[in-house]
Amino acid sequence: MSAFDRDLLENDKIFVGGEWRRGAGGAYVSIYPADQSVNAEVSTATARDVDDAVVAADVAWRKADWAGLKVHERAAVLHRVASLIDARHEALSVLQRRDNGKPINETRGLVRSAANTFRYFASCAETLEDSVTPSRGDYLTMSVHEPLGVVAAITPWNSPIASDAQKLAPALAAGNSVVLKPAEVTPLTSLALARICDEAGVPKGVVSVLPGKGSVVGDALVRHPLVAKVSFTGGTTVGRGIARLAAEKLMPVSLELGGKSPTIVFEDADLDHAVNGVLFGIFSSSGESCIAGSRLFVARPIYDEFVRRLTRAAQCLRVGDPSREDTQMGPLISKQHRESVERYVAKAIEEGGRLLCGGERPTGNAREAGFFYLPTIFDGLTNDARVCQEEIFGPVLVALPFDDEQSLIEQANDSVFGLAAGIWTRDYKRAWRVSKALATGTVWINTYKQFSISTPFGGWKESGMGREKGYFGIREYMRQKSIYWGMNEQPLAWAK
Ligand code: NAD
Repeated sequence: MSAFDRDLLENDKIFVGGEWRRGAGGAYVSIYPADQSVNAEVSTATARDVDDAVVAADVAWRKADWAGLKVHERAAVLHRVASLIDARHEALSVLQRRDNGKPINETRGLVRSAANTFRYFASCAETLEDSVTPSRGDYLTMSVHEPLGVVAAITPWNSPIASDAQKLAPALAAGNSVVLKPAEVTPLTSLALARICDEAGVPKGVVSVLPGKGSVVGDALVRHPLVAKVSFTGGTTVGRGIARLAAEKLMPVSLELGGKSPTIVFEDADLDHAVNGVLFGIFSSSGESCIAGSRLFVARPIYDEFVRRLTRAAQCLRVGDPSREDTQMGPLISKQHRESVERYVAKAIEEGGRLLCGGERPTGNAREAGFFYLPTIFDGLTNDARVCQEEIFGPVLVALPFDDEQSLIEQANDSVFGLAAGIWTRDYKRAWRVSKALATGTVWINTYKQFSISTPFGGWKESGMGREKGYFGIREYMRQKSIYWGMNEQPLAWAK
């Protein structure tokens, strides 16, 4: 029996301008990170494929059957995409698990979220209103919004189907066409999504999916003169390079980048909830999450007891087979990425960190065949240690004690990143005060890593610019136009 439903894919073809064809780049062998078995061989795109896809997209979005549709008609297409995702929910969840090794319960959540994202932005498109602005002369003034044209969507490997949907749904709802470039190592669900869009009646050329290398496919997309906007999720270094190229073209970009998020436990917190939330915040998704709460600040009076409880609980996490419903942590994405995490662990030890748990690969239960790594906790470091300043993107937590609110806020904000933060306290005034003082795009109070499509998401500082999600998320894919309608009975005064 096949490891996943191959009907979701078109052999080794990619989706260019509404047609399935072999990409002109080399073949990429997709492997399952849990045991390194082969998922599929996928052809990759080249700059030539990028040009074909972008030219087709530029023709397709302007047509009567896309940007020219009434918004409720376009919304109906997006609702069909959502229904088709739902109809294949389990198959897509398995495909996503095979693609990046996340536990099945988590990939089921991602697939559900992808369907809901299409529904949400279908509703936004139908209900968002343009405005008639207060007139200051003998004219009627209106502010209207129009699609941008061809949007390049570039996504990372950690939550592919959800990240793809967060870009495709609002961009399509606004009437654009989208050329999607998934991460090189996780092309499968993006290709399945292309099939679903095609089946749902998205017109030919409006969506293309081009797997391949960032330095080839991504770069060609960003530089293409017909691409009107880049929506990027990924690392800060790549994001900064894209922003530079975009500046040359004076093209809008939105950037969802890395993080090094603090979670803060005050002495009055509900400690059962806090232990649970801190563990979930850093170790779910094996720490491969932009919002991973990777720096833990604990009030000194409860520090020893809290860190002891946390370490005990981390040692009990179930690390293993992602197809099991009770698995909490699957493998890391690749051999190279695990090696990078291991280098950070070595660095933490070199800098004087005390290893409280983990710090090694697990053995037994066939885990040697995959890229597994144990949940790892350090203390004995200060916030200026490299492991506190750089994004590891793995299951590594550093615990730090704090003495007072002021020094806590200074340390929490002492980071180039500003993506998210968590606060655990029963004192509502303190929760408010500290959440206002934290320089991050999201703050969770007595919870962590909860998401809602109706609430905007994005980073401060080097964690990015622009916002995804939320009612106005669709406006990131539109441009504004002001229209003046003359109502004068007489010629303009100047002409007299
Ligand atoms: P990455 O930056 O290496 O790659 C992201 C995407 O960019 C991939 O599709 C890649 O192929 C492409 N790319 C690489 N070089 C490119 C170039 N020169 N031009 C154009 N495209 C290029 O990131 P990754 O390793 O795939 O993902 C991990 C990173 O993503 C982490 O830093 C994480 O924090 C971040 N991330 C951020 C969010 C968020 O919402 N803020 C969400 C998920 C992941």
